[in-house]
Amino acid sequence: MALRGTNQEFGRPYNRRIVLESVRLHGPTTRGEIAERVGLTVQTVSTIVRELEEQKYLVSLREEPKGRGLPPSTLRINPDGGFAVGVHVTPIGVNAALIDLSGDVVGSLHHTIANASPAAAFEIIGEMVPELIKRKPEGRMLGVGMALPGPFGVESMSFVGPTTMTGWENVAIRERLAELTGLPAFLETDMAAAALGEQLYGLGKRFSEYYYLYFGVGLGGAMVHEGRVMRGAWGNAGEIGHIPVVPGGEACPCGNRGCLERYFSLDALRRAKASEADWFKSVAPIFRNAITTIENLFDPETVVLGGLASASLLDRMAREATDLPNSISARRGREAPRVVVAHGGEHSVLRGAAALAVSGVLSPRFGRMFTGERERDILDGKEIAA
Ligand SMILES: [Zn+2]
Repeated sequence: MALRGTNQEFGRPYNRRIVLESVRLHGPTTRGEIAERVGLTVQTVSTIVRELEEQKYLVSLREEPKGRGLPPSTLRINPDGGFAVGVHVTPIGVNAALIDLSGDVVGSLHHTIANASPAAAFEIIGEMVPELIKRKPEGRMLGVGMALPGPFGVESMSFVGPTTMTGWENVAIRERLAELTGLPAFLETDMAAAALGEQLYGLGKRFSEYYYLYFGVGLGGAMVHEGRVMRGAWGNAGEIGHIPVVPGGEACPCGNRGCLERYFSLDALRRAKASEADWFKSVAPIFRNAITTIENLFDPETVVLGGLASASLLDRMAREATDLPNSISARRGREAPRVVVAHGGEHSVLRGAAALAVSGVLSPRFGRMFTGERERDILDGKEIAA
């Protein structure tokens, strides 16, 4: 667990989130174990835990005695302590799910619609959110988080072309989402939301340094560094889809030629009009070079494959990645394979989007799930949760 608490006074809300995350990743766990993991005193952790118990975010259980002496009480997340809605708008449809505090999907909805306009998407979302909330009428609703294809804030790439949401520029997305639902609202690129969902509820238990390759309609990804999603100066780090791989290759809506996602993405698969197997055979060398590039850039423990692709396609990619070109990751004695399939499954984006809301509400201002400080201003035009 790489996240550490801070003993400075202003860090209290931050510590609250760090403690909650430690329980989420390692629970059931004891106060002493948490203190050791996050670098705070047992007393500080106990104070925070008491507060989180009073607010019903954590529950404490006394284990069955195994030998002499009273066993310590262990803490775990109270799944019913709060709920958040995750929304994912893609060029092929709108997905939404109600997620409980332990990250489990209480219910999910899907609406197929190609290239939804903001008006159409918000109408669908406006119907989906109350429908989902009805599944837990007594539940405490913490907020709603929304994920969209990135990158954000780049004129030539954002909301341009078939792998993005065309016509969504200059829309006050977060404000409209808050108005529509009456809940605190949060916004993120889908590649970062997926990486966050994976970190919290998937392979985060096993790895803390990895690149999450997001295979969506387009291709994106994010580096998870010390258990946090690395976002760069403007929140778009890891946007691998527009790395040029074929000089003079296919024209890309971004203005360049030969961008990776022109060859390797669900959009590329759709354009190829071939079976999954035949298509993958033709692009496998490009995929393998992409993995090698990622490895040489980030030196990750592994590369995690996830996103909207079918489980069979992700499995096929992982299988084909057994004989990769040389890179700094081709070290002897490594334990993890160089490429693994995500554990978070199809709901990773929605769980990550919902987690934004949970974090933002539980520790506003210090609730950032990401490295880097500036990006919120860029996404929203102002501080997200002052
Ligand atoms: Zn491009």
